[in-house]
Amino acid sequence: MLPALLRPAATFGGAGAALPAFLTRERLTGFFVPLTAVFAGWIVQDFVVDRWFDVDPDFRQQSWLYWYDTDWLAALVAIMAVLVLALTRRRLDPASSLILHMAVGWWIGFLLLVVVLDWRMTPPRGDNWAGCLGMVAGMLVYFWRSRLSGEESIADIRNLFLFVGADPATGWLDGCGVTVDRGGFVVTGAQSEQNQGRPVPPLETSVPGVFAVGDVRSGSVKRVGGAIGEGAQVVAALHGFLGDMAKPAL
Ligand SMILES: Cc1cc2nc3c(=O)[nH]c(=O)nc-3n(C[C@H](O)[C@H](O)[C@H](O)COP(=O)(O)OP(=O)(O)OC[C@H]3O[C@@H](n4cnc5c(N)ncnc54)[C@H](O)[C@@H]3O)c2cc1C
Repeated sequence: MLPALLRPAATFGGAGAALPAFLTRERLTGFFVPLTAVFAGWIVQDFVVDRWFDVDPDFRQQSWLYWYDTDWLAALVAIMAVLVLALTRRRLDPASSLILHMAVGWWIGFLLLVVVLDWRMTPPRGDNWAGCLGMVAGMLVYFWRSRLSGEESIADIRNLFLFVGADPATGWLDGCGVTVDRGGFVVTGAQSEQNQGRPVPPLETSVPGVFAVGDVRSGSVKRVGGAIGEGAQVVAALHGFLGDMAKPAL
């Protein structure tokens, strides 16, 4: 027989053995504090029960603390531990959420199958089986919800910045011969009638001597580093263009 403290932990342990198969190291580490809170709660529970309640270990089912000879108190303490932790941190992290799903699942399974439907072990035994079924169901609900909507978490957020897209302000180029793409971004490096068949440097527009760099350029990476790099690169292209102009026509 497992000691009382370890019995509910065994189900967590089963889940714990499977979780490393698909969780990242960072997500696994996130379990440390919530699990510590739960185990601390159970240690306090055992201490209080041993010290202040007179429970005969051979007939513990006779005590209301082991209603239906189950570990309902441990499931309740687990719920309280993660809720206190969430209130302290002002957020419900994914690990605490999983523990909450399992512990609430324990209660739903126990209340539904044992208390409401009166499905009992015969001859009477501990009815933790119903709670364990509920825990597994709670775990499945958690995984199902995580897949549907990504991770759910509550965070104390003051500001939210949302980037929903970018429109180039190139309307004023209409009619000056600079080609823009369907989104209005300036096309560079393309052949055009104005270039008269000469090779066009990658940052030059369809108008010779007019260059475009950064976000406004069609096909640019839309990153600061990209804009800086193109800004540096275009200097050489400008010198090349001006040098060509200075050369006498043959
Ligand atoms: C919300 C957000 C978050 C971002 N986060 C990142 C990030 O984390 N890392 C990253 O690398 N990049 C990020 N970017 C992209 C980055 O900001 C751009 O790639 C970069 O600023 C492009 O530089 P730019 O000089 O080409 O254009 P801009 O920085 O847009 O500069 C263009 C300037 O031209 C001015 N202008 C426009 N029209 C005219 C006109 N007719 N006459 C005179 N001036 C005009 C504009 O007012 C503006 O000041 C982010 C962009 C946004 C919007």
